[in-house]
Amino acid sequence: MIVFDRVSKVYPGGNTALKNVSLHIQKGEFVFVLGHSGAGKSTFLKLILREEKATSGRVFVNGKDLTRMKERDVPYLRRNMGVVFQDFRLIPSMTAYENVAFAMRVTNIPEKKIASRVPYVFSLVGLSEKMDKYPDELSGGEQQRVALARALVHSPQLIIADEPTGNIDPELSIEMMELLSAINSVGITVVVVTHEHELARHFSKRVITIDHGNVIGDSQNRQNAGED
Ligand code: ADP
Ligand code: ADP
Repeated sequence: MIVFDRVSKVYPGGNTALKNVSLHIQKGEFVFVLGHSGAGKSTFLKLILREEKATSGRVFVNGKDLTRMKERDVPYLRRNMGVVFQDFRLIPSMTAYENVAFAMRVTNIPEKKIASRVPYVFSLVGLSEKMDKYPDELSGGEQQRVALARALVHSPQLIIADEPTGNIDPELSIEMMELLSAINSVGITVVVVTHEHELARHFSKRVITIDHGNVIGDSQNRQNAGED
């Protein structure tokens, strides 16, 4: 699903954000990407979304080489991934329903399909009752679930959650993780990017740890999960 083959990223100005990173994330996995601020997590995400290009090495998503992808193919790449941003990025002047419907409208999906799909994704995130609320009428956890509903709208094969605990209460972050687990259980690959060790440790999932642009740990490579 995601392959990094000796990927380095050096920003103009000389900051090296990733150094010779190689990793594989298989279809259907649930993976935490863990690292302190400045470790290179955002850069990792930007490379997957093709918001940035690798300085050297190759990045593959779903078999496609992003380092060679044409600009015009980038929107299709992104449609295959649902991203839940840390700040949710909901449009305040639109209801929850409209926020999700809008993500479908911009890709010219017929209204009839939108009208059946949107309530369905709200039911998946357990927010059917609040579709007609505006973002400022919803709690942080609820806004996050709207963002997740929107991320699911194009039936992506990959869901990425960027710092999902950043803007919500601790109890709600467990709830969010359970939702992501449920989504993962139907075969969707889930990548959770976080700086919170506790979150990553709380679940028995694969944890890839990055530090100063290097992959310094990958729980999958340990003979004995459960140590530490
Ligand atoms: P994280 O998301 O883990 O905090 P980042 O990927 O944002 O890490 O940053 C990794 C390193 O790259 C840091 O040293 C950061 O200052 C640097 N960096 C990130 N984005 C840029 C940029 N656009 N220009 C220059 N340096 C950057
Ligand atoms: P976070 O770690 O919460 O994702 P950061 O504070 O690391 O956010 O970065 C916020 C934004 O600023 C990101 O888009 C990142 O690429 C960019 N950025 C980080 N460090 C630098 C830098 N040294 N120069 C320019 N842009 C940077």
